[in-house]
Amino acid sequence: MSRLLEVNNLQVNFKTYGGEVKAVRDVSFHVDKGEVVAIVGESGSGKSVTVQTIMGLIPTPPGIIKGGSIQFQGKELLGMSKREMRKVKGSKIGMIFQDPMTSLNPTMIVGKQIAEGVIAHQNVSKQEAKRKAIEMIKLVGIPNPEERYNQYPHEFSGGMRQRAMIAIALACNPELLIADEPTTALDVTIQAQVLELMKDIQKKTDTAIILITHDLGVVAETAQRVIVMYGGMMVESGSVFDLFENPKHPYTWGLLNSIPNVEGPEKKKLIPIEGSPPDLFAPPKGCPFAPRCKFAMDICVEEMPGAFEIGEGHHAKCWLNDSRAPKIEHAFAPE
Ligand code: SF4
Ligand code: MG
Repeated sequence: MSRLLEVNNLQVNFKTYGGEVKAVRDVSFHVDKGEVVAIVGESGSGKSVTVQTIMGLIPTPPGIIKGGSIQFQGKELLGMSKREMRKVKGSKIGMIFQDPMTSLNPTMIVGKQIAEGVIAHQNVSKQEAKRKAIEMIKLVGIPNPEERYNQYPHEFSGGMRQRAMIAIALACNPELLIADEPTTALDVTIQAQVLELMKDIQKKTDTAIILITHDLGVVAETAQRVIVMYGGMMVESGSVFDLFENPKHPYTWGLLNSIPNVEGPEKKKLIPIEGSPPDLFAPPKGCPFAPRCKFAMDICVEEMPGAFEIGEGHHAKCWLNDSRAPKIEHAFAPE
């Protein structure tokens, strides 16, 4: 598999009146060609800031990229000029946001918004771009594409708008699609349809996807690898199988435990874990999860756990994985 994206030791702070918020702390991960990597964690865990930094969307100030590197196809994105970045963004990395209404232009017909992307990145005539845009509208499952081409965003339903956003993002044949909670604003049936569509497109076009979600059911169905974030840090990462069958971090256990066993549309929604996330103005020097962790030991408060290697490509930042740690009783606990 060839490496598409490589993020190393990324650190992002935000200047505020209260001080500097450490939003992303030492995040490292990679995405290979055609791979789906999910990022999960509660709000404020640094998921969105991480992908926004990749997309060059963090305003500086108040954002400060403290360190690290982001290589896309071997090219460093951090420090790239706006112009260069725009080129990469439009033609190689596409992004879908949570709320399509804020990202679609309300005064322009949808078809033209798709065609503009095609023209900007594929060097084709207007006629050809229109034809391609109609093809894209069809590909994302919007009926009557010729008619829909000429309609404005407000004439589309929420689900259709999200499909249109996906069409815009895909119009430039990106190698990587970043989807930040793409279905959160939609109702449950439409959510399932849009995700099905993304999976489908991923298979057809071999586009890699970074999917930010709160929904572990979606992770299980869509992703190959998962990154669990907490307090601006990656606390566990591994294959979907590792994370669901052999999780090694109490926060991951909490996420898994919070999936109720009842049937129905709510069954895969996360229920918040007790306690509140760490203060990112002055993060604890030890494990950020310690104040909420039932298994916290003295060392957890004193010293930040490193990333213990559990297996190939499976890491967990938790002292329980140290060979000296006491054995504990828990359904998911280390053996
Ligand atoms: Fe809990 Fe300690 Fe592991 Fe942190 S390092 S998750 S406090 S057991
Ligand atoms: Mg977010």
